[in-house]
Amino acid sequence: MTADRSLAGKVALVTGAGRGIGRALAQALGAAGAAVACAARSLNEVRAAAAEIRDAGGAADAFRMDVTSTDDVEAQVRAIAATLGPVDILVNNAGIMVKKKTVEMTDAEWESVLATNLTSMFRCARAVAPSMIARGGGRIINVGSMWGKLGVPQHAAYCVSKAGVAALTRCLAIEWARDGIRVNCLAPGYVRTDFSTEALTDERTRSLILGKIPLRRLGEPHEMGPLAVYLASPAAEFMTGQTVYLDGGQTSSW
Ligand code: NAP
Repeated sequence: MTADRSLAGKVALVTGAGRGIGRALAQALGAAGAAVACAARSLNEVRAAAAEIRDAGGAADAFRMDVTSTDDVEAQVRAIAATLGPVDILVNNAGIMVKKKTVEMTDAEWESVLATNLTSMFRCARAVAPSMIARGGGRIINVGSMWGKLGVPQHAAYCVSKAGVAALTRCLAIEWARDGIRVNCLAPGYVRTDFSTEALTDERTRSLILGKIPLRRLGEPHEMGPLAVYLASPAAEFMTGQTVYLDGGQTSSW
């Protein structure tokens, strides 16, 4: 466990906590003292993520949740309140990517990217906000992407979804500022997860990608955790509506 226990007594819901960045964010929030609800569709993975947090001395439980289903999200938010307590910190992390030439992309593919990456974040925020407002506030961290501010061929749906995440972050931050809910967006660059490995197996693409990152390496999932803890903590009390890039300098480069 880390020395930073700034989230002690808080309940955090992390979507997509079964693997990759979400799992690392769940671990970091758990180490900072939050009781963590690990949610995703693969129950075996979120069970393993929750067990990892408990093994490290924290508190956590697993919840099967499909973020594209309103019924599922609302039922699981009620189940979390009944077991761990009402959600104080929502980390909207679940996401997918479909790489497709725009002329070949089907309506269903486009809609599934927007549904999983963007509409889901509105849906989860809507599900937890009434209780946060009633209790004087809360924290929402939306996981965006540096691709939300870049144009990338064959990734129109993904880039649009992540640009939408930054816009949703600003809108919710302003709408709920007086209610004590702070909303920020953590926007990673390339991070080593299942999500990014496909592009990285091809040596030519890998060296092209590394050449675009000023720090000349990928981020690791655990490097995303400290920013999430900060955004959820009292130290970030004056910060809301912001998108913060954790990308090895890529979006600052010429
Ligand atoms: P990952 O390893 O593929 O993990 C994605 C997680 O999201 C899994 O736990 C998955 O679990 C969950 N998920 C997907 N669809 C879901 C659904 N309908 N309902 C509930 N959970 C769902 O991906 P990652 O790399 O960690 O990415 C996490 C977030 O970071 C995403 O929002 C992604 O856009 C963003 N990001 C990643 C990178 C990168 O380089 N890795 C860069 C920028 C931004 P189930 O399949 O079991 O549901």
